[in-house]
Amino acid sequence: MKIINPANHQLIKEISEDSKNSITEKMQIAKKAQLQWAKKTLDERLACIQNFSNLLEENKESLAKDLSQEVGKPYQEAINEVNGAKNRIKFFLENSKKWLTENQVNIDGNTKEVLAFEPLGVICNISAWNYPFLVGVNVFIPALISGNAVMYKPSEFSTLTGLNITKYLHASGIPQDVFIPVIGGAQAGEVLLGLPMDGYFFTGSYKTGKYIAEKVSHKLVPVGLELGGKDPLYVTDELVDLKQVAAAAVEGCFYNNGQSCCGVERVYVNENIYDEFMEHFLNEVKKLKVGDPAIATNNQGAITRSSHMAFLEAQITEALGKGAKLLHGGKKIGEQGNFFSPAVLTEVNHTMKIMMEESFGPIIGIMKVKNDEEAIKLMNDCEYGLTASVYCKNIERAKKILAQVDAGTSYVNCCDRVSAYLPWAGRKNSGLGATLSYLGILAFTKPRAWHIRASAENV
Ligand code: NAD
Repeated sequence: MKIINPANHQLIKEISEDSKNSITEKMQIAKKAQLQWAKKTLDERLACIQNFSNLLEENKESLAKDLSQEVGKPYQEAINEVNGAKNRIKFFLENSKKWLTENQVNIDGNTKEVLAFEPLGVICNISAWNYPFLVGVNVFIPALISGNAVMYKPSEFSTLTGLNITKYLHASGIPQDVFIPVIGGAQAGEVLLGLPMDGYFFTGSYKTGKYIAEKVSHKLVPVGLELGGKDPLYVTDELVDLKQVAAAAVEGCFYNNGQSCCGVERVYVNENIYDEFMEHFLNEVKKLKVGDPAIATNNQGAITRSSHMAFLEAQITEALGKGAKLLHGGKKIGEQGNFFSPAVLTEVNHTMKIMMEESFGPIIGIMKVKNDEEAIKLMNDCEYGLTASVYCKNIERAKKILAQVDAGTSYVNCCDRVSAYLPWAGRKNSGLGATLSYLGILAFTKPRAWHIRASAENV
């Protein structure tokens, strides 16, 4: 497998892929090792995860350099990602004990009723490339803490980072047979689907997620899906500072080159402030600097997948063909790497793919709306339901709007943020189940209900 730098199309490294036999063997090894890992105390497992977090801190610069090179994100954003992963790990370190410790929930006469959570066994984690540290830790950290073994398949576009994660997890005391990387693309993923895993946890596109859920459904094991989004942002006409709102919206649209599951993908603006908003928005977009991700002054790096350049161009062409206006960018820059100038389109509508299909790139469609009712209707007119945000100084009005939008995460006067304390749970085609928060700890366990009497005496 060739690891190619998307910023210059040069070969970074060649790595051999796993075969069907090697993956099957790895799983058999993991099945045995998991039983021993589950016998360790929770404190012992937590100590390994604390070591891992320390190693991330000690090796942050080299980890960020590899990540930036293989996915094309600016070095500083790669550093931010490692820091973000450490924050999430901190949440799991501080909160897992509370949820995983056996708990007496009732006494009924002489019967103690006790709730315990046990590991699922060997889980399969098929992961994405856009934030490999963040989406990875959502799954493998709580899975390992709760006593599972993990077969971890990083995306073929972030294999180096996947192997770095593996190296430091092993160095932190997690046995090599308990966290096992599987190297390859869709083919390697297919092999995992055919094996008797005890749970499947996937981060990636709706298309692949749905396929995986269907393929493994007969096994009746837990399936968690973190999928795509087409997240809307609505700017009302009740604001403190419109310039600030425009700056926040631009960051939500274009951070990580728009390759964020919860990035803003559609903007609706109240007609009373539309012209003023657009002026600020375009001023902010013009400040974005696209270029070599290793250069600190660039805040937009390269698009990770070369094939996606044509996809983005096609979305823009289709919208223009239906009457949209391109106010900024929308073109490949230079010959060497996957550089794309951030595109801003107006006069868009819901017959256009740019407003209905996940773009997953630096392009945004902006639509004028008459009132909150129209905004709510348009925000809901979508097959995805990951996040939605409303900017409004009247918080009650913002909450009233968002309560009517079918999305797992609601942002008032903010967007594109994730907290380890809150569940990350997409609705509709954005996913199934939840990671993060206490729900994302329990997701990797199965409950055991204990009914305990000291003697057989029936009272
Ligand atoms: P993808 O679906 O192309 O690939 C994801 C993973 O699935 C990769 O590891 C890939 O090798 C594997 N895969 C592909 N075909 C497979 C098959 N037939 N069987 C088994 N495995 C297979 O997605 P991607 O391009 O890596 O990621 C981008 C998508 O992920 C976007 O839609 C984005 O919104 C979504 N995403 C969602 C979240 C979230 O938290 N909801 C987070 C990050 C990314």
